Amino acid sequence: MSPTVSVLLPIPVERPYTYRWEAEGEPVPGQIVQVPLGNRQVAGCIWAHAPDDVAPDKLKPVRRVFDCPPLTESLQSFIGWVARYTLSPPGMVLRMVLRAPGAYEPLPPHEALRSTGLEPERMTAARSRVLSLARDGGAWTKSGLAHAAGVSLGVITGLAEQGSLETVMIPAGPVVPLPDPEYGRPALSEEQRSVAGDLSGQAEKGEFVVSLVDGVTGSGKTEIYFEAIAAAVEAGRQVLILLPEIALTSTFLDRFEARFGARPGEWHSDISPKKREQLWRQVATGEIRVVAGARSALFLPFADLGLIIVDEEHDPAYKQEDRVFYHARDMAIVRGQLSKAPVILASATPSIESRVNADRGRYHYYRLESRYGDAVLPDIHRIDMKKYTPPRGKFISPVLHKAIGGALEAGQQSLLFLNRRGYAPLTLCRVCGHRFQCPNCSSWLVEHRFRRQLQCHHCGHAEPVPEACPECGTLDHLVACGPGVERIAEEVYGAFPEARTLVLSSDLGGGVKWLRLELDAIAKGECDIVIGTQLVAKGHHFPLMSVVGVIDADLGLANGDPRAAERTFQLLSQVTGRAGRSGGASAGYLQTYQPEHPVIAAIAAGDREAFYEREIAARQATGLPPFGRLAAVIVSAANRAEAESHARAMRKAVPVTCGVSVLGPAEAPLAILRERHRFRLLVHAETPAQLHHWFRDWLNRCPIARGSLKVQVDIDPMSFV
Ligand code: ADP
Ligand code: ZN
Repeated sequence: MSPTVSVLLPIPVERPYTYRWEAEGEPVPGQIVQVPLGNRQVAGCIWAHAPDDVAPDKLKPVRRVFDCPPLTESLQSFIGWVARYTLSPPGMVLRMVLRAPGAYEPLPPHEALRSTGLEPERMTAARSRVLSLARDGGAWTKSGLAHAAGVSLGVITGLAEQGSLETVMIPAGPVVPLPDPEYGRPALSEEQRSVAGDLSGQAEKGEFVVSLVDGVTGSGKTEIYFEAIAAAVEAGRQVLILLPEIALTSTFLDRFEARFGARPGEWHSDISPKKREQLWRQVATGEIRVVAGARSALFLPFADLGLIIVDEEHDPAYKQEDRVFYHARDMAIVRGQLSKAPVILASATPSIESRVNADRGRYHYYRLESRYGDAVLPDIHRIDMKKYTPPRGKFISPVLHKAIGGALEAGQQSLLFLNRRGYAPLTLCRVCGHRFQCPNCSSWLVEHRFRRQLQCHHCGHAEPVPEACPECGTLDHLVACGPGVERIAEEVYGAFPEARTLVLSSDLGGGVKWLRLELDAIAKGECDIVIGTQLVAKGHHFPLMSVVGVIDADLGLANGDPRAAERTFQLLSQVTGRAGRSGGASAGYLQTYQPEHPVIAAIAAGDREAFYEREIAARQATGLPPFGRLAAVIVSAANRAEAESHARAMRKAVPVTCGVSVLGPAEAPLAILRERHRFRLLVHAETPAQLHHWFRDWLNRCPIARGSLKVQVDIDPMSFV
């Protein structure tokens, strides 16, 4: 019997700690335990790792072994894998798993009511309905019984007082009912059926394969992957559906319910701690079969994961850039492999990475060319802004203005898309030229007119809009330069005062929950004109939308990032794809100063393949992902010289390896963030080889000497600021 045991803790250390084992039986790797750490008690996980060679009596004991299924071997391997790949301490990955402190013990039993068989003194129709229900079936919650019998809670209380109902304690049941694979099975089109058949076959077999379902918006990708979910549920296994956080609307959940007769378990930032704990526990026990969640759901403790769906797989929101930098789509594939579960990636605009993997035969590839039913894709028009210039201080060209008016008359919706929050991205003084800048970051302050504030979009700094210029003191001479969504809204209020107009932007208060409600309201047709940032582009189904106008189609192209063209293509295709989802003519308008730009031209011509061919060739020629690998290193410090000298020292210490080169250091485009000065180095590997050994070696050569210095590694970076 081993008297010591390794326990991995959710803290930033490389190795598990060693504790004394006094509990009954042998420790089992994956078991969740409570141990002392300093003067705290923390939950950790028994880890398959040789304990340190220390006499047991010198060690603190494991305090408690939770009554909870141990983390599966595949999840333990996943934690290790993610840690190695992202160069993060395994404890920080474990921290993403142990996210529900109350869940490690069984959920407490709850009060329920049961019939005692005693008649009440006075019988009423309501009472008799309650009692006949209660006599038939076991125990009921108070509100459940009142609801089922269609009576008020008072009737139930009355019956309990009379002794006709008694209180009993029952174990907590599943928080969501089991999905029924047969419940609302649709009749699939022939094209859909063949894809769904293949995917269901994979889910039945339960082997790891990756499939890319590449189908235009509205082709029925969701209906198709629902069939694979049905097959996995029938096979008795669990399913994870990953969606970008904002796409987890009640419309999606309702749709799942219409198909399966029950909602999936939900996991996103807006779930209450109690629901979070229930879900975590019941995912671990296997009681919950299907979870729809944002990227962090990838770290839930599934008992038997049998299928992973990554919807909108190209979405940049899958990249987490905080503490552990990971890409949820890429890690989903790893988790699928370790769990022997098939993975389905779905998108109307797949990432270049996934397309290349499909082209090379690593992924199964399914293509859906047309929308389901009568729905047709919108006609896309380019509006050359050099010819059709809007009046001074306005941003909607006459052509787009007319289209919006037409939709309004026909009782249909329009969407105006501009990926810029606030009223104006820059404010300056007309007299002295002073520009308002963030005191903490090297960025301009963005005017938010609804709130009468100037805000920094990087650190959250906000100040009231002053009446006078702080530099020259002139009153009332500040001018807003360029548009944000609020400014477009102002133009729309003026041009279409009778329309119901809604502005959708992540900063307008109320958080994710409010945004979901607004998205549902749009889907129900409760507004006429929607003005929004990229939030509106994400996979939503808006049946009444017939016009989509992109205010500035060139916006993303100016960006120096290696994925600028890909992002712009995806965003513009997705946003114009919101139009015409349920039949009838529809149109997308791209306002642009460069109508001949290949990305704009490909979208206008509906020629996706032209875009993919060109972009893949360009990536191959330059060795950019997925042909080569990138990794970013950000060195930051409170003081500029300190950050710069460490970045330079790192450059000098680069281990020489064939095929790996390092660029920089250069001052980051966002040179100061939250009062920290930032320098970037970019690692480029010619082949997609794993870089972690090389990186460890490098980082070990450059120990961090002093206080404020921080080195952050971002493998496969998506953002380059
Ligand atoms: P995608 O996920 O590719 O954008 P969806 O699955 O959302 O496409 O389908 C678009 C619309 O068409 C939805 O309203 C969906 O319910 C409907 N639809 C697609 N396929 C079918 C089908 N076989 N039977 C009935 N409705 C379908
Ligand atoms: Zn700032």
